Amino acid sequence: MFYKMKFRFHFSSGYIFLVLALAAFHSSCSKQQQPPAEASAAGASVPATNAAPTPQPGSTAPVAGRSTSKSQFNGKRAMQYVKEIVAMGARPPGSAAHAKLEQYILAKLNGVDVEQDKFTAQTPTGKFPINNIIAKFPGTKDGIIVVAGHYDTAYPLGKSFVGANDGGSSTALLLELADELRGKQLDGYSIWLVWTDGEEAFVRWTDTDSVYGARHLAQKWQADGTAKKIKAFILVDMIGDADLDILKDTNSTPWLRDLVYQAASNLGYQSHFYDWQTPMEDDHKPFVKIGIPSVDLIDFTYGYNNVFWHTPDDSVDKLSAQSLGITGDVVLETIRLLNAR
Ligand SMILES: [Zn+2]
Repeated sequence: MFYKMKFRFHFSSGYIFLVLALAAFHSSCSKQQQPPAEASAAGASVPATNAAPTPQPGSTAPVAGRSTSKSQFNGKRAMQYVKEIVAMGARPPGSAAHAKLEQYILAKLNGVDVEQDKFTAQTPTGKFPINNIIAKFPGTKDGIIVVAGHYDTAYPLGKSFVGANDGGSSTALLLELADELRGKQLDGYSIWLVWTDGEEAFVRWTDTDSVYGARHLAQKWQADGTAKKIKAFILVDMIGDADLDILKDTNSTPWLRDLVYQAASNLGYQSHFYDWQTPMEDDHKPFVKIGIPSVDLIDFTYGYNNVFWHTPDDSVDKLSAQSLGITGDVVLETIRLLNAR
């Protein structure tokens, strides 16, 4: 009954069925991590909303096309972080587990320039403390690239919902990025990592009951002039799914969305990107609204017909270090491309 409208279709129900059927078909196709050449070709012939995926070179290994020289993101360590985060239990705002996770993130950021954007949100079920955590890694170039992801889990789903993918994967990916950026002299834009809070609805997803932290931060950045300095806002959400299929979000800024695809293609990961498209409601929306180029990297086909989403089945066994690694590397490659623009 607590249904989060993460995406909204503006089409007829018949079309929705078609889109879902295609998505389901795609998802069943891409479950084969090591497809033989024919299967790969058959998969590519499925009508897709974007460029047909090309078979990856050297597709005998699960990490097909992943060049070791290009991959630097440690997906295994990110996976370890997911496990530690999930072990805390459900992490909705105001809970003891949420407070524990805040301390856990802050402890991992020891020695980094950290800002906390704390406020009290008025929600349909009362007032809740919200805290966006911002880690700043200074660069040599004037401008900021933001990588964000939420760390709260859905409040109405209660203690049985540990959100390994939905909440856990984004938190962990950012922690691993922090590890990789720490102590480095960034030859480019500054990078800010933002663990957003209160992404989830408290009762039912609406414009006012969702993305509490992101709305607050966007407003703040617009007021204090930070927004003008932000070159790109890259959001990650539910990117740990072992069957990684990041959709093409039509609410994202087109050129930045294309740049992400370029980054994925450079690394040979384009088969995990943009097989289908839909407008997503997520933390990036408030930043799009104030004119910051923003993109949402989200896999919303989590299990057949998205059945694991917002259920107790959103557990660590559905995730893979490889998917976290692919997303992490694509984010890093996107940052490289942004700096080269
Ligand atoms: Zn969610």
